[in-house]
Formats: sequence, structure tokens, C-alpha cells
Amino acid sequence: QITVGVLALQGSFREHISHMEKLIQSLKHDPSYANKLISVKPVRTPIDLQQIDGLIIGGGESTTISILLQRTGLLKPLQDLIQNQKLPTWGTCAGLILLCDEVTNTKIQLGDLTYKTIGGLDVSVERNSFGRQLESFTENVPCAGFTNSALDSFDCVFIRAPVIKSTVVSSGKLKENSVRSGRKVHAGEAPAQVLATVSRNGEDLVVAVRKGKILGTSFHPELIENYGFHKWFLDEFVIRNSI
Ligand code: GLN
Repeated sequence: QITVGVLALQGSFREHISHMEKLIQSLKHDPSYANKLISVKPVRTPIDLQQIDGLIIGGGESTTISILLQRTGLLKPLQDLIQNQKLPTWGTCAGLILLCDEVTNTKIQLGDLTYKTIGGLDVSVERNSFGRQLESFTENVPCAGFTNSALDSFDCVFIRAPVIKSTVVSSGKLKENSVRSGRKVHAGEAPAQVLATVSRNGEDLVVAVRKGKILGTSFHPELIENYGFHKWFLDEFVIRNSI
């Protein structure tokens, strides 16, 4: 029995659930999945975490998701599981932002709470890096780091998307409008691996990274009719780690 959780607090969780359900349906006829019982589960409370083998955090508004993570009591258990590589996790857009150890260009005070990130990816991410909603776009991006050839190039949807500005989080003074997860990087820990970039004005902007069991994409595979990314996460991250 393998259960993929989808954080269902705000944003594109319905799309991720529907993609996983369609993928699971299509695998029913695939002999290599014959003895695997795979299901998808919305995650809304800390108890839900006990039943999942992997987690997807979708796109949306990371400030709102951060508030809801704190109100539901999910933030601390997720920090423990994800920062310590105990739960295969994939974040898309706002989900990626919440998996980063440093978030820049953000509001910090959210009503009576402050912006808190889950962390786990030792990268620095800039929110809304391509500009406002009008600067949203779709681009076919070569995803060279993937082990699934179906993803050699992929139509990537970017909506007020973040960009990973640095794959090193310095321990120096925090810049204005920035937050850190506070995760301690262990000595000898391998840095996050860059999986995909888009080119703008001669610069390669990092839009997908992986660190062990954690995957982060600036774009939204849940918004296009292609289940390749979801299958890759299921195979490479969830099933592989549940054996
Ligand atoms: N701009 C949003 C944020 O910072 C992310 C947008 C998205 O998930 N499409 O949280």
C-alpha cells in the first residue's frame, strides 16, 4: 500500500489530486504496478501525515499556505519530516517556495503571524521573480536532469513564478524582506542539484531543483494534460523510498 498525500489547504491541490488519480488509473493496466496498491490522500491535519509515503505541495499563495500550515499545526511536523529527508516531497511554485531554506522578496508580517517556510532545500528562492500575473507564460523547457526520458522537454506553466537565485544559503545577515527556515546544513551535505533552467537576457534562471527526496519546480505540471512529472515523482521519490 502506497499513499501519496497532497497538502489540501489552499491553491492547486484539486488539480494535483486529479492528476494522481488519473495516473493511478492508467497504471492499473501496467504489469510493473500489478501488485502495488497506490492511492492519493488530501492532507489537512497532522494525523494525516501518519498515513502518507510522499507529499505534494501545490501552487497557490505561499503566504496563505504558510498561515494555514501554522494554524493547522502542520508546520512543525512537516519541518521535522522534510528538513530531515524523512518524507519524499514535491513542491510546485508556491509549494517549491515553502520547501526552500531561504525565501526573498516576501512579506514577513502576515496579520498576527509571520511568514514561515518549511525548508529542506538549501537554496535561496525569490518570489514573483518574473514579475506580476501578466508576466505569466508557458515555455517548453528541457529537463535534462530527469531520469525519465518522457520529461526530456516539458511544457512548463509559470504563474507569478519564483526563481532559485542561489544554491547556497549563506549564514550571513538576512536581507530585507527575507526569511530562513533555520535548518542546519550538515557538514559534507551535497548541495541541491539543478534540474532545469530557462534563459532570460543571457542568464540561465534555475526553475527546478532536487535534493535527495525533495523535488521543487517553479512551474505547474498539475495544470497541463501530461502525467509524466507525477509518474516520475511517484516512481523515483515515493515508490523507491517506500521499499
Ligand atoms: N507568487 C506565488 C507565491 O509567492 C506563487 C504563485 C504560484 O504558485 N503560481 O506564493
